[in-house]
Amino acid sequence: MLNTLAPPKHAMEILQEIAASQYRLQGKWKPLSGERDQNFRVSDETGSQWVFKFCHPNEPAEIIACQAEALEHIARTDLTLPVPRLRRTLSGKAVGEVVLEGQTCLVMVLSYLPGEPVGKRQLAPQTLRSVGIHAARLSKALRGFVSPAPASRTLVWDTRHVLGLRPYVKLLPVQMRQRTSALLMRFEKEIQPGLELLRCQILHGDLQPYNMLIGKEGSISGIIDFGDMVHASLVQDVANTISDYLWPGTDFEQVFAEIVRGYCSTTALEEAELDLILGMVEIRLVMNVLINAAKSAAGLPVDGYHIDFAGRCQAMLKTIEAKGRNNLTDLIRRAGNFQAKARPKPQSIKALMKRRRAIMGSKPYMFYDPPLHIVRGEGVWLNDDAGRAFLDCYNNVPAVGHCHPYVTEAIVRQARRLNTNTRYLTDESLEYAERLAETLDPSLSSVIFVNSGSEACDIAWRMAKAWTGRRGGLAMEFAYHGITDAIDGFSPSAAPGAWSAPHIRLLPAPDAYRGQWQRGERNLAGKYADLADPLIAELEHAGFGLAATMIDAAFMTNGMLEVPKNYVKSILQKTHAAGGLYIADEVQAGFGRMGTAMWGHQHHGIVPDLVAIGKPAGNGHPLGVVITRPEILDHFTRHGPFFSTFGGNNVSCAAGIAVLDVIRDENLIANAKLTGTYLRDGLRSLMRRHGLIGDVRGTGFAIGVELVSDRVSKQSASDKLKPLLNLLRDEGVLFGNEGKFGNIVKVRPPISFDVSHADIAIAAMDRALARL
Ligand code: PMP
Repeated sequence: MLNTLAPPKHAMEILQEIAASQYRLQGKWKPLSGERDQNFRVSDETGSQWVFKFCHPNEPAEIIACQAEALEHIARTDLTLPVPRLRRTLSGKAVGEVVLEGQTCLVMVLSYLPGEPVGKRQLAPQTLRSVGIHAARLSKALRGFVSPAPASRTLVWDTRHVLGLRPYVKLLPVQMRQRTSALLMRFEKEIQPGLELLRCQILHGDLQPYNMLIGKEGSISGIIDFGDMVHASLVQDVANTISDYLWPGTDFEQVFAEIVRGYCSTTALEEAELDLILGMVEIRLVMNVLINAAKSAAGLPVDGYHIDFAGRCQAMLKTIEAKGRNNLTDLIRRAGNFQAKARPKPQSIKALMKRRRAIMGSKPYMFYDPPLHIVRGEGVWLNDDAGRAFLDCYNNVPAVGHCHPYVTEAIVRQARRLNTNTRYLTDESLEYAERLAETLDPSLSSVIFVNSGSEACDIAWRMAKAWTGRRGGLAMEFAYHGITDAIDGFSPSAAPGAWSAPHIRLLPAPDAYRGQWQRGERNLAGKYADLADPLIAELEHAGFGLAATMIDAAFMTNGMLEVPKNYVKSILQKTHAAGGLYIADEVQAGFGRMGTAMWGHQHHGIVPDLVAIGKPAGNGHPLGVVITRPEILDHFTRHGPFFSTFGGNNVSCAAGIAVLDVIRDENLIANAKLTGTYLRDGLRSLMRRHGLIGDVRGTGFAIGVELVSDRVSKQSASDKLKPLLNLLRDEGVLFGNEGKFGNIVKVRPPISFDVSHADIAIAAMDRALARL
């Protein structure tokens, strides 16, 4: 389907002879560029200028004839439209014919249009409008033109065939794949069905800025290259034209509004047409990227001007997201003389909160004041009910991006096929268990499924108690591990000041910023780890003994600590020495968030006895897992089987498998390291300008920005955190709060976050701090 035709390269003298004999065209010849044809500019004796076109011999004759017919049709229907005029041969034929090297070849002579290609120049609003007017006039002039030729071929550049480019998604750089797949899916579901209902006709098909000429006075002076004519929806030309005029630095709103306004001043667009424009603009940008990737992979030359255009398409797609799709759709509608779309009115937050309190408890735990009403998620973006897009720098559950198409499709496909439980043999639960075990130390080879992080921690704790015959536990101060009765004891942060669990002791956090021992001091790991000794002794003394130590490897509730090297290893050794088991809570740190390894405990260089998995496992689909050594699981089930009704159901496992695929295929662990470091360093650089930041730390995509009112005393600036988060929300960027003093900005985005997102987040933080 890709265009592999390079222009022929005949000697100019041979072509001059043809021009002289068939057209009596003589004069000064100068080669012109061409994608498929060999073109020349000819200035004749009278000073008139012509284009001599030697058509590529592989171009079907009916397509060439169709171009000639179209130009003659336009000459009748819109005499002043600046398109080339066709010059017939001396014998009156629209297309000349010549036999060269035994092959019949076709030639055309067209009038040469003055002006320069618009190219990459930024256009004034009135010129953009003129682009729209010319596009509309051209389609109008072609309205009555009939030819079977354009419908008889499949052009790769025809938007309707974009789904055929899906296999090339895997050729794209990792950070481009998710958005590309999501847009292809949206095309399939939301655009294609609507497109088939719209009016169609023969269109120019390629009104990009190198096929439009601009005159000295700055108005459109010509439209050239009719080689890509298609029979398609009228609106396809409008959308493609808009997308081809979007460049970094252009005023997006102006391009959309002026081209549509200009178009509609000649031909009114229908409401359904206007509503498809934005999606088709996006899909055209996607096509640029995919076609270029496919061509490069096939070793084909990439079309000249498309090289950097393709490179920039991602930036433009991001700009569209950031501007908000609803906003742009409304702008297009208004430019086309329709009102902004009647959407379900954003509901009053007050009314929603009233409903929520009435039905879900009088003390709702929510982010932001006023809270956000989120209705849609895509990649690293969340949309509220007014269509506003927010960059998500906080949510770790949709680890590979909100509603990742690969994961959602896996869920839907499995939900259609079978969803049952692990009392049957099911392929998905076996595959998922094996795939998880492959990522862990070989000793950790027994896998059971539950439904949440809390359940995973709870079962791990029960297993540890059963194995050791003890009842005491060691947890981190201000930790959180879940909601069950047993795990509440491991979660002092859930009830600060009111925590009580006689059988659990709390380790002081190894906080090198504000803890007992700080950065720069020697043997931080040893000093902090030794604090476990008296606590373990106390548990022994109280008759509980140590059954397990449970630690979140990301130290998230403690403020995304950068933990001294070997601290965790030391705690594990002390736990084992006391006869206890080590439970690695991977609910936060797992699935690559730390950037150095798949699992947080691997980041700390240890092999735990039990691993508890939750949150990101299903990218939002509820899924919990416990992984341990076979003997520990066997011991736990010695008196009866373990079974969780929903745990390990086929759909959850399909989601889990899909998440593992995406992390591997999109290289997201490496991304967490690279982009996480970039993000942390960018936030850290803000310390130079903003004294409120006392510390920026973290690993991978677990980053903490600690606010202090004074860098020397490290007095926590808790009062500033909430206003800052609200200002950031106003900037369209979502962060969270953390820490026992409530003064730490939690930066924990989906691990598909890329550098351009990091730039947005850093700039927003800078502005919000300045406004605070
Ligand atoms: N462990 C950790 C470290 C967590 O952060 C959480 C949830 N915040 C849990 C366990 C409990 O997971 P869930 O809410 O899925 O029960």
